[in-house]
Amino acid sequence: MRKVNTGGGWAAIVYTLRTARRAGGFRAMWRALRTKNACKTCAFGMGGQRGGMVDERRSFPEVCKKSVQAMAADMQGPIPPEFFERNGFDALRRLTPRELEHAGRLVQPLYAGPQDAGYRPIEWDDAIERCVALFRKTPPNQHFFYVSGRSSNEAGFILQLFARLFGTNNVNNCSYYCHQASGVGLSSVFGSGTATILREDLDRCDLVFVIGGNPASNHPRLMRALMEVRRRGGEVVVINPMVETGLVNFSVPSDARSLLFGSAIASEYVQPHIGGDIALLCGIAKRIEELGAHDEAFLHHCVEDWDAMRDHVRALSWERITEASGVKRGQIERVAEIYAASERTIFSWTMGITHHRHGTDNVRAIANLALLRGMIGKPGAGLLPIRGHSNVQGIGSVGVTPALKKALYEALEKRYGIELPREEGLDSMACMHAAKSGAMRSAWCLGGNFYGANPDARGASEAIGCLDSIVYLSTTLNTGHAHGRAKETLILPVLARDEEPQPTTQESMFSFVRLSEGGERRLDGPRSEVEIIAGLARRVLGDDGPVDWSLMEQHKNIRQAIAAVVPGYEKLARIDETRAEFQIGGRTLHRPAFNTPTGKARMHVTQIPELEIANDELRLMTVRSEGQFNTVVYEEHDLYRHQDRRDVILMNEADVHRFGLAVNERVTVRSATGEMSGIHVRVFRIRAGSAAMYGPEANVLVPTDVDPESRTPAFKSVTITLEREPR
Ligand code: SF4
Repeated sequence: MRKVNTGGGWAAIVYTLRTARRAGGFRAMWRALRTKNACKTCAFGMGGQRGGMVDERRSFPEVCKKSVQAMAADMQGPIPPEFFERNGFDALRRLTPRELEHAGRLVQPLYAGPQDAGYRPIEWDDAIERCVALFRKTPPNQHFFYVSGRSSNEAGFILQLFARLFGTNNVNNCSYYCHQASGVGLSSVFGSGTATILREDLDRCDLVFVIGGNPASNHPRLMRALMEVRRRGGEVVVINPMVETGLVNFSVPSDARSLLFGSAIASEYVQPHIGGDIALLCGIAKRIEELGAHDEAFLHHCVEDWDAMRDHVRALSWERITEASGVKRGQIERVAEIYAASERTIFSWTMGITHHRHGTDNVRAIANLALLRGMIGKPGAGLLPIRGHSNVQGIGSVGVTPALKKALYEALEKRYGIELPREEGLDSMACMHAAKSGAMRSAWCLGGNFYGANPDARGASEAIGCLDSIVYLSTTLNTGHAHGRAKETLILPVLARDEEPQPTTQESMFSFVRLSEGGERRLDGPRSEVEIIAGLARRVLGDDGPVDWSLMEQHKNIRQAIAAVVPGYEKLARIDETRAEFQIGGRTLHRPAFNTPTGKARMHVTQIPELEIANDELRLMTVRSEGQFNTVVYEEHDLYRHQDRRDVILMNEADVHRFGLAVNERVTVRSATGEMSGIHVRVFRIRAGSAAMYGPEANVLVPTDVDPESRTPAFKSVTITLEREPR
């Protein structure tokens, strides 16, 4: 496999051209990417009314490989009917995530009952009748609803409304397994759970921390912003146990100089232990205070509990900090000096921070550091949880959560003159436990791959297998359709965002709402998510209730409802006439006015977690490759990590020698939850004592215990042992 020493670049251009040719040709791909639809992949955001490949700053071309991969997947032809004749469940389970994704588009409803050895196509009328019967046969609180962050605000809103009017709050979304700790942590600091900055703020800062993530693979357009920070003489501090090619050097394809010569990204690359973030962040805070570089006035006027936080870091010994973080004092001090010299700092992070049992405290430790120097509440500075799916923040905003925010709750009851269920809804992990215990009988999954996103993959398959029924609304096949089956399983094919017959809306990680125009359907068969949900609600709840579901088949009517009940979405009411996309009010913090009872932000004492491992153990994190997005695998290889296959364990060279192993030797990897055999040993620039494997496959090893506050499993902190396999 050809080794690249920079991210993006010519390799990205060649890959994009090849993918476009495979998907129908460069012109077809260009036309598809230029339509007025929000990008289907990550929440960095582009497209919409400003035109495809244009961002909210009206910059063009703004596109990346991830966007092209997702578009190519939707441009596939239909899965031929004989595919399901040839591939019963045994065969389907042997297919890789990539082979399932590349089988083609789902175009006909599929059904499998308790006696079936595989899926069989059924007609839509039959499928809808079966769905209605599933609702009628099981009490509402034994149903749960899971929504992926790719669905539209409109589909998410009516699904949560339908579920609650049906009688349950068991409504959750994919962020429970990704950024929930950011929402919970940030809300406890300044009363709002989203980024405090605009996209434009990345053009005004002089320092960016990139913590616990690899945006070079998962949010490539952020790399241009980081390149420009460096070009402005600014700094980029990367904190990650793994040295990621694209975070060291990235060649921005749309910038000639960068394309030809590459661009240095990280000015300081810090490799802590997995789980060493709190110790490291407390160490930087300690040094800032020692240097007197903290903003006393800001802390006095705008922050609560600085004294407790100050005393905490003062009491921490440098020995404890360096031992728990795995980072030398000299480097911590260097990072602190870089931070002390900054006037406008942005802290960004992804799941390397949230996928821990102390994930919420990780987020608070980042917020503490930002508050320490007054880096929240002014332009060019602030906090940026780098969100995954393109509308994961939107579906949270429109109410796809087990516990609705008070304002939304009351507004819904007032608008429809109803009393919503009072019983507390179950989050994703709680739904899985309830499925296993038999307390839950039926599941509805709008997009995504609920099975694949779960920890303890074998347990997840068993739990879903305990359900009477599960219904998937999907565009393509994934491992959930093969391993996440109930006694009755239905798959309903849905349209992609740019095939919707009516406009939809999405919210970016910067709280910017886009209007996607939709477009021509590519294939006969799939239906719009809203059409299916509104149709089912009408059949199950009737039209004489508080909601006229026939009206809800019109997206503009749904937008009127969202505008009326969701704080900050008021402008949605007129977007169908004005086509004016907007920034959600009350989210961006360019002044130190916080949405808390005291109006001040709150610091938190974050204890360093006890994470010791034995000598024959390693701490494992599950990662995504450059060839995938979330659980969707587009390519088997991982270009930036130089891996030609996915059944590998990436280890530090010293650990490979310490365990007496050889490169490519096969081992069995075990955790308290599961084991994986035939895994190839690979040397990688990862912190000694830490290891990495690709998810969702490695979720077999991940336990189901969760961060008590965010309810997110610790996908990035699993204790493992290795056993050499006979040669
Ligand atoms: S960075 Fe994200 S939003 Fe931008 S083009 Fe790539 S996948 Fe789409």
